[in-house]
Amino acid sequence: MSNIEICMECKPSIREIIKMNEDELKKFLISHGLITDIMKCPNCQESCNLYNESIKKPDRSQTNYEKISLTNKRLYWRCQKTKYVQGNKRKKLIKCNFMSSFWAHTFFAKSQLSIEDIIHFVVFFITSNAPKTDLLQDEFGFSRKTVIDWVNFMHEVLLDWSFRNNSLMIGGEGKVVEVSESKLGGLICNGERVYGGQWVIGGIERSSKKMFIIPIKTRDEETLIQIIRKTIAPGTKIVSDLWKSYDSPPQECFLSLEGELLIPTNHSESFIDQATDANTQNIERCFRYLKRKIPKNKLTEEHYSNYIAEFLFVRAYPNIRDRIHQIFREISIMYDPTRLNDKRNYYEN
Ligand SMILES: [Zn+2]
Ligand SMILES: [Zn+2]
Repeated sequence: MSNIEICMECKPSIREIIKMNEDELKKFLISHGLITDIMKCPNCQESCNLYNESIKKPDRSQTNYEKISLTNKRLYWRCQKTKYVQGNKRKKLIKCNFMSSFWAHTFFAKSQLSIEDIIHFVVFFITSNAPKTDLLQDEFGFSRKTVIDWVNFMHEVLLDWSFRNNSLMIGGEGKVVEVSESKLGGLICNGERVYGGQWVIGGIERSSKKMFIIPIKTRDEETLIQIIRKTIAPGTKIVSDLWKSYDSPPQECFLSLEGELLIPTNHSESFIDQATDANTQNIERCFRYLKRKIPKNKLTEEHYSNYIAEFLFVRAYPNIRDRIHQIFREISIMYDPTRLNDKRNYYEN
């Protein structure tokens, strides 16, 4: 049994991670939930033992923790539980033959890269600025395909984080939320934006700076109001330039407790105290930062979602050391090494 607890907070530097020896890295991966030295059999809930494939008999001289080697891709969990069942004439002893690869379900499953390389790749990925594919390829010397695959795996983790963390409503009674839309990317031709790009709607709560950015296909009023109802809590004062006419200041609207969006028809109907600035500077600043992170290539909607998720993650963890800790915790949520999907009956005669 290991007594390594899950890390709730640590501040590793890039150098500290790079310099870790195998044992330090093993401890780091267990404490951040990427691998485990405790596995419950999904069939009988007994603790499994770790086997090196070449050793058929259980090796009791070492603990599971000691048996873990980051360079051994042929480690297996096995359940040795036996039980008696009533046969036709007499009781028979049957054995639970549950077996699963140690690396199955981990972030490292099916990869030819070393565990060390993957960890270093994650650290470089999450601490460098876009465009990073060339940088990563140059730094690691992997094939283009391998780099793109791993960049995609990282984007999946960030999207998953984004769905879990940015689906909460912002605002509420007494709170002010700025809402605006913007077009990301797109190619400029003859000084005019003619094709590509992605419209997004974004909102930021002024007091807490909590925010959302959502790609939209159409910019009709119905879509915008639907998103506002989904992302902003009733009772929120909203400052927005979505409905204003060209050149006039952003409007001060109100999302009623019944979820009705009240838009003033003239300035005297304003729902916000005169002391509150009628501007959308905060959300516009976020859009500007985000745009700087987006390359000028032709991109798909999926690409934009990836850049938005990465932007929100970096914004949530501006300190690089906090970010390194957090990215590994997020990977472990998506790739939980204790999750064994295969629940078939492993008992055999
Ligand atoms: Zn940590
Ligand atoms: Zn079992």
